[in-house]
Amino acid sequence: MLISSTGEITPRIFFLGNLVQQVFLIRGRENALIDAGMSIGGPLILSDLKQYLGDENLLHWNLLTHSHFDHAGSTPYLKRKIPGLKIGASPVAGQIFQNPRAVELIRSLNQDLERAAHLEEDVTFTGIEVDRILKEGDILNLGEGAEIQVLATPGHTRCSISFYLPGDQAVFCAEAGGMPYGDGDIMPEFLASLPDYVKSLERLARLPVQYVGLAHGGIVAGDEARSYFSRSRDFTRSFQDEITDLFRKGRETREVVQALEERYYNSGKISQPYRAFMLNLEAMVKQVRELRKSD
Ligand SMILES: [Zn+2]
Repeated sequence: MLISSTGEITPRIFFLGNLVQQVFLIRGRENALIDAGMSIGGPLILSDLKQYLGDENLLHWNLLTHSHFDHAGSTPYLKRKIPGLKIGASPVAGQIFQNPRAVELIRSLNQDLERAAHLEEDVTFTGIEVDRILKEGDILNLGEGAEIQVLATPGHTRCSISFYLPGDQAVFCAEAGGMPYGDGDIMPEFLASLPDYVKSLERLARLPVQYVGLAHGGIVAGDEARSYFSRSRDFTRSFQDEITDLFRKGRETREVVQALEERYYNSGKISQPYRAFMLNLEAMVKQVRELRKSD
């Protein structure tokens, strides 16, 4: 089952924002927000926080799955509105946010969307100071049974981590789990490392899960959640085989990318913007090519 409407998921987990800028509020004695969407989503997230918490200053944490512009985009805006907010992110994400060129890239990708959105407020991405580095095995105890375990799940990016709530059997993995599209297919998202990505999926597949909070497009629940990560791994393997086959037939990298663009993007089932899809596709094709060379 796919949950695609916002609101209460369990008494501890709330789906805020919308299907593009999706974020999750975890309620305990302290409250944490997982991810922050793009900068243009900041005002919506803030008003949702007011609605669910009564006072946005009752949000203690913003925990980031990774440093991509569409996941960390509104963190600076939220920090400006909620001065006591503490930011948690992986060690690699912490380094990325210290790099002026990376900050500039996140700002400019968000600014492209801000120009089109004509917002009344300044939502500019101004950079992130990480208050707490979250590593594999760390536990963030929010109180009242809300315990968040940190899992290192690299492969989508080097900085990807996932958050697991054993009490609710819920995991929030963003693109470390791939991106569902169409009728139950799952697009692989191994931008940084295919071997790490598969290892992360296998690890996530061993968790007891009832809910998988995706990067975009909702929450997978129930039986589909239980089989989600092993299905995602299977899609990744067959995608890899497909690319390998094309190279084996003597196709150039450019031709392989084009064939996959036709097969996947032109199917009309993928809602990701074309430019982002193509950048990701090229990164994945190049990785499979390099892995073949090293075999
Ligand atoms: Zn991402």
